[in-house]
Amino acid sequence: MKILVLNCGSSSVKFQFLEMEGEVVLARGLVEKIGSTGALLRYKRGEAKEIREETEVPNHEAAINLVLRTLMHSRDGVIASVDEIDGVGHRVVHGGEAFSASVLVDEEVRAAIERCCQFAPLHNPHNLKGIDVCGHLLKGKPQVAAFDTAFHQTMPPESFLYAIPYGLYRKLGIRRYGFHGTSHKIVAQRAAQELGRPLDQLRLITCHLGNGSSVAAIRNGRSIDTSMGFTPLEGLMMGTRSGDLDPAVAPYLMQRERLSAEEVDGLLNKRSGMLGISEASNDMREIVEGMDAGEERHGLAFRMFCHRVRKYIGAYAAALGGIDAVVFTAGIGENSARVRAECLRGLGFLGIELDEQANLKGAVRISRGPVQALVVPTNEELAIARDTREVLGRTVHAAGASREEAIDRELASLDAAARRELVLLWAADPEAGLERLGQRLSHKLKKRISAQALGSELSRLGLRAEP
Ligand code: ADP
Repeated sequence: MKILVLNCGSSSVKFQFLEMEGEVVLARGLVEKIGSTGALLRYKRGEAKEIREETEVPNHEAAINLVLRTLMHSRDGVIASVDEIDGVGHRVVHGGEAFSASVLVDEEVRAAIERCCQFAPLHNPHNLKGIDVCGHLLKGKPQVAAFDTAFHQTMPPESFLYAIPYGLYRKLGIRRYGFHGTSHKIVAQRAAQELGRPLDQLRLITCHLGNGSSVAAIRNGRSIDTSMGFTPLEGLMMGTRSGDLDPAVAPYLMQRERLSAEEVDGLLNKRSGMLGISEASNDMREIVEGMDAGEERHGLAFRMFCHRVRKYIGAYAAALGGIDAVVFTAGIGENSARVRAECLRGLGFLGIELDEQANLKGAVRISRGPVQALVVPTNEELAIARDTREVLGRTVHAAGASREEAIDRELASLDAAARRELVLLWAADPEAGLERLGQRLSHKLKKRISAQALGSELSRLGLRAEP
């Protein structure tokens, strides 16, 4: 089974095309700067060198068309026609309370994703665009939506509610939803494999530290708390997001600096975090470089980032009533030994003893104490592709089952006289074919029976080979 995974953003489309047999990435890439001059396609087939091509890409439809054409390219492509694509998995940022797992996209699901645009106006509309464009360009191909929020739908109310008037939760859906769910889920599964223990017996803290960062508390495979909230702004300090802050700061800024709501939103999402503190960079590599070169504010940003992660680990260890492992993942979590060491510093009281050599070497297990610290790469695209395969498998199965049930219902509606009529009509013209037979029978009985049901009945009577 071959699956195309798409992550459609405002001006970019990221894609991976996977053969699920052996979970091989056949091709991957990105179309960026959609809508502006000098849009860029980056494409990599298997282990081949990345191809870069500047081209005109006015909109998402053109971008996805370009992806499909590239996948079918005579020299660099991996398929001869779109018929080889069995399904498309879409990353959808917000599923609200409507989705706790990945689902097959139909009209109802599409409408629910559209309703969630109010919660993620910068993401969901573009995710939806991708779904609509594929519906058009790949007519009839099944599409699956995988939500960033879905994994966290298992949080109990004491974790997901904010202590504001309850009516606002009911009326406006204001609550913690959590994000990066696809990543926290696959990383927890991989950690359980690494520990050689069943996921449903583990208490894990997963730290997804990338441009956007979040921590999740996972008990027996289920998210019970996470640091991102109503939007991805809450929680950890991030590349450009402030993370947790006193909500009173927002109205104060509006009054004192005469900023609009949008301007405050922009300040907290795009000009804060490591960028805001260092006033130089949102990139952890540059923060560490600056710190090593003696830049005070870079050092401060680094310490603030790690302090916040450490605080959440402590809080979630308490929420979980103890932990079996802390897991690091994503760009920073997977690559920065310095960050990991600083986040775990002083956590010996929780049973976490950093193995400095293992940490520096980039080993999977980086601790010695009773509680494990692990570094596990995330792979959100693979997780979406797996979900897509699973949903499609279930759908085919269910469709098969419901088709059989429908045939059984039709046959149950035939009485003995009708069955005799069927046999007589067949005997009169055995070569007529099921459609023709069906027409004659419906004329006699004043009742329509499907060709499949007729075929099934004739097979049962031994008058026709099994289809
Ligand atoms: P995104 O949220 O965009 O998927 P990533 O998970 O790719 O982000 O993480 C990007 C972050 O990872 C950047 O801050 C980058 O500096 C950091 N990063 C990547 N490699 C390293 C490294 N070797 N050392 C420190 N930070 C790194």
